[in-house]
Amino acid sequence: MKNLVKSRNIVSSDREITLNGLGVSKGIAIGCAHIHIKSKPYIPEYKISDFDIKVEIKRLEDAIITAKKQILALKEQVNKTPADALIEVSYLLDVHKAILHESRLIRGVKERISHERINAEFALKKEIQQIRKDFFDSKNLIFSNSCDEVIEVGKRLIRNLTDTPEDQIEAPHDTNKIIIGDQISPSEAAILNKKHIAGFATESGGPEGHTAILARSLGLPAILGVKNLLKNIDNGTKLILDGNLGHIIVNPSADIINKYKKLQKELIKAKKKLSWLYKVPSLTKDNVRITLQANIEVPKEISTAIKNGAEGIGLLRSEFCYVNNKQLPTENDHFEQIKNIVEAMKGRPVTVRTLDCGSDKIFSFNERKQHESHNPALGLRAIRLCLKNEELLKNQFSGILRCSVLGTIRILIPMITKTEEIIRVREIYNETIHKLKIKKIPISNPPPPLGIMIETPSAALISSSLAKHCDFMSIGTNDLTMYTLAIDRSDEQVAYLYNCLHPSVLKLIRMTVKNCHIAKIPVSICGEIAADPKYTAILIGLGIRDFSMRTSSIINVKNSIRYIDTHSANQLANNILSQDSEEQILKTIKAYNQNINIPELY
Ligand code: PEP
Ligand code: MG
Repeated sequence: MKNLVKSRNIVSSDREITLNGLGVSKGIAIGCAHIHIKSKPYIPEYKISDFDIKVEIKRLEDAIITAKKQILALKEQVNKTPADALIEVSYLLDVHKAILHESRLIRGVKERISHERINAEFALKKEIQQIRKDFFDSKNLIFSNSCDEVIEVGKRLIRNLTDTPEDQIEAPHDTNKIIIGDQISPSEAAILNKKHIAGFATESGGPEGHTAILARSLGLPAILGVKNLLKNIDNGTKLILDGNLGHIIVNPSADIINKYKKLQKELIKAKKKLSWLYKVPSLTKDNVRITLQANIEVPKEISTAIKNGAEGIGLLRSEFCYVNNKQLPTENDHFEQIKNIVEAMKGRPVTVRTLDCGSDKIFSFNERKQHESHNPALGLRAIRLCLKNEELLKNQFSGILRCSVLGTIRILIPMITKTEEIIRVREIYNETIHKLKIKKIPISNPPPPLGIMIETPSAALISSSLAKHCDFMSIGTNDLTMYTLAIDRSDEQVAYLYNCLHPSVLKLIRMTVKNCHIAKIPVSICGEIAADPKYTAILIGLGIRDFSMRTSSIINVKNSIRYIDTHSANQLANNILSQDSEEQILKTIKAYNQNINIPELY
């Protein structure tokens, strides 16, 4: 056995081994490792005199100004990335900007400088440790994403104070490099140059964290949470990264490389072969029409959605209206923003979801309150916040209603858990319509339908009662899975338990669909499950006919639909609902897909 590598006190060999992690972004990368280890700044720790308090606070403020400029520059760099990735990172960079404003981090550091009389970088180090501990002690795993962002900003400030250069991933010169590191932040991932980089793998990170979402948006194969990754790989080590299986093959044999090269070619061919599907309607084998719409986060995505054959927007996450605003958006701001989208969709339906603030979605106007919450995902989130502050809802309703004469609009309310909530929302909605009519502001007749998200077990269980008060339902399986199974979807430690195929989740979907059918109101699905062609048959079998998903998945789901007939899909669903093991359920679904020859899109 030949020893290859001696740097970093690590000795690896050319023996073929396979490391396993979470395959968070599909695809295959074949190339050589490019190690990215973050530099750790030296943090001086010293006491300061009373006189120096002002000096240290000024140093901190200068570091904040520099950080704001760096974020601006990053935003410009990120502007060159594809729309999906741009949205994700722009949102995060806005969160970083908000944290630099007057967050707990900044307040805490200033207090430490004044009261503990310590230098700014030491105060930052202590405050970061405290924030980490507080998040950990509160067992608030759901908040871990926003904690990560606070820490990231804190580290940026320390680098600025200590003149440590930015942690950018050094661009490799040759192509097909696979970035290997302990951790890659979303902003680092966003500016990876796809010309040179074929994929990445890290030791930490969860499947629904921002880096994972970003990798999918960029179309870069990625594996996170790989134990002993850095111990086994060094610069230049030959690697195959299988994003589908979550495998990293270190020092692959020539046979394995050839097998994967063949697979890569087949994948490209398969994708090309599907291009004719963009323009045809989506029909099952027995000619049942299935609607495929897009989940959209910012207006920039519209053109990609249309190009990918989206029949409408099934979920417009309206948070983008709040992200760039220090002030709350006015009715007119909402009108202007939604108007552009509705007009661009040229009559295709647009389902606008009202503000879903809370959990890992932080906004400057509400940031302080959220940090005070012990468990934001179970706290004043989404409609709960809007019903505490009804002006939020009234402004949003007014702005959206004014757009209703420009196209086809539906309004969707997130995180409903009880009938009283939707009853109050309906009252506010009717009052808003009334006020607009008195002012002679035109709105569509009838006004847009008012629907609710089914994202909690409670909403699914009382869906028959909720159906009396709303016009449609949309099932959000991302949160439904999280709340049903009590699992943080962004935490790698419990990622193996997060599974939308859990029988309890499937039963809640079935129950909701049945109750909507009885009430004769439309029901759709907009969680990540809708985007996976493997699960299309089970969803059709459960009675879903309207899907909404990230735009890049539309074509693959449309392809699956062509192989499915509703009769056998119903049988599949009935069979699965009598099973109680997730593993068995997945096996049954795979067997069904194989049996009807749905091509496995690797
Ligand atoms: C969901 O929870 O499934 C959903 C679509 O909403 P979001 O991902 O925006 O929370
Ligand atoms: Mg949700």
